[in-house]
Amino acid sequence: MEVAINKGRFSFRGGVHPADRKELAQDQAILPGPIPSQLVVPLSQHIGQVCRPLVKKGQLVQQGELIADQDAYVSAPVHAPMAGKVKEVSLQPHPVLGRCMAVVIEVDQNSVGQADQPQLPADLDLAKYQPEKIRQDVRNAGLVGMGGAGFPTHVKLDPNPNRPHDTLIVNGCECEPYITCDYRLMVERPLKVVVGALLAAKAWGSRQIYIAIEDNKPKAIQSISNAIRAIGVEGRIEVAVLPTRYPQGGERQLIRAVTGRIVPTGGIPPMIGVLVLNVATASAIADAVVWSRPLTHRIVTVTGSAVARPANLEVPIGTPVGQLIDHCSLKHAAARVVLGGPMMGIAIADPNTPIIKTTNAIVVLGDHELRMGQQGPCIRCGRCVDACPEGLNPSLLARTVQQYAWDLAKDNFITACIECGCCSYVCPAGIELAGYIKTGKAFLARQTSKKT
Ligand code: SF4
Ligand code: SF4
Repeated sequence: MEVAINKGRFSFRGGVHPADRKELAQDQAILPGPIPSQLVVPLSQHIGQVCRPLVKKGQLVQQGELIADQDAYVSAPVHAPMAGKVKEVSLQPHPVLGRCMAVVIEVDQNSVGQADQPQLPADLDLAKYQPEKIRQDVRNAGLVGMGGAGFPTHVKLDPNPNRPHDTLIVNGCECEPYITCDYRLMVERPLKVVVGALLAAKAWGSRQIYIAIEDNKPKAIQSISNAIRAIGVEGRIEVAVLPTRYPQGGERQLIRAVTGRIVPTGGIPPMIGVLVLNVATASAIADAVVWSRPLTHRIVTVTGSAVARPANLEVPIGTPVGQLIDHCSLKHAAARVVLGGPMMGIAIADPNTPIIKTTNAIVVLGDHELRMGQQGPCIRCGRCVDACPEGLNPSLLARTVQQYAWDLAKDNFITACIECGCCSYVCPAGIELAGYIKTGKAFLARQTSKKT
């Protein structure tokens, strides 16, 4: 039976076509990263309650040992990425939060070893894995959305019995420029992605599975299709080949493009019977359920015009960003280091910032890639409105933030902004529209949390 290829029957509005610069790292096979002398493992690497540390200064820990947990449902435990000795539990740099409590581990250099990659047999008996057990294994392994959102995966896999739960989309679009870690995963370890998708669908109770990939990744499409055929699940999984357009991998845009369904403004995909998981999360589900392996390592793309040897490295969580940049060397001075892609990523200044479960890329940009120069006045060209995939008026929203007009901002759906950066990208006046809007959203979120 042939693998069904769904050529994206639908589409989404807006979006842009930035230079993808994937050629820098896309042909670099996944390799083990350098062995760090110390790991900084934050207690918060997910959306939800921060974990409590379960280890003390001076304690020896083994690779994969539970070092932090929390009783709250929306939370995910944290494990020691490598064996070593706890140096301290203290406030440390964090890529998203700025600072956060973390377990600092001095790595035992005698017991190091990168996570091995056991091969999945194509004849794996998936019938023996029951939904509740899959969710429990996923929770025990500390899985969170590895595409950037960081929502605990066991919570996502728990279906609401009062709502439909018919469609799982595994997101392999990787539409952000520069990033190639998901691409390499699909090319090199497709069986894990497919098995993880089947396990996730079983846990969530969905009938239909799509693996969505942009059409600029023919090798990944081929590799995933071969894995589907090898397992004999051609009738169960469709490969959705979508046009290359940013932000094709945005959850709301992806659902629209693959199924034609629209997630309501302010709503979440399960409201319309859809669950979206990143391909790296699917692969980690296979690790967690088939081998009981906790999430201790992840693949990170180290790239950018300033990087001498771009790479896709499998590294322990907690590895300092600066160490990975040194490992790949710089060919000229870095003007900016961004965690994630240049459209949605976060610029960092501290090289000691650690890799966390959601860090997919380190992009080191040179001067010539930054938009320098003064912001000009808005010339009312409307390009930001055309580019916005959420149908917002970014120019108006940015003005509401500049003028502290919070009621007007809310009336114009500022919270519906997905922070994709398309508006800033197209603005000929160089106005950092997305930056203003993000600031406004953060301010309103703080106001709301103070009131509750
Ligand atoms: S950042 Fe927000 S306002 Fe700007 S294009 Fe994206 S969704 Fe629209
Ligand atoms: S793209 Fe820039 S210049 Fe054009 S309308 Fe939007 S804010 Fe104004």
